[in-house]
Amino acid sequence: MADAPTNIRALQAQQILELTWDENQVDRLSYLLLRGECPCASCRDEWTGARIIDLSKIPKDIHLDGMEPVGSYAVRLGWSDGHSSGLYTWETLQRIAANPEPTV
Ligand SMILES: [Zn+2]
Repeated sequence: MADAPTNIRALQAQQILELTWDENQVDRLSYLLLRGECPCASCRDEWTGARIIDLSKIPKDIHLDGMEPVGSYAVRLGWSDGHSSGLYTWETLQRIAANPEPTV
């Protein structure tokens, strides 16, 4: 299991979620990318992993409305489009950071 980040900052003006991991590794993930990669069952097919959400429907000015830790393994991100069911595990966030192109 991936270690939790040592710090998470929401940079609302830049629409960036900044994650600091051990050894001061810092990842900056754009809100649009994160919203499009939402791992919940209404955004992504649970079996195939295929994206269900239409990326063109994501508001360009999307921002975070809330951030709530879930145990020690994930964070729930609430978005300004009213969607808040995505649990982003540390593994998911690290995967998105490692492959910052939207997957199909
Ligand atoms: Zn979702």
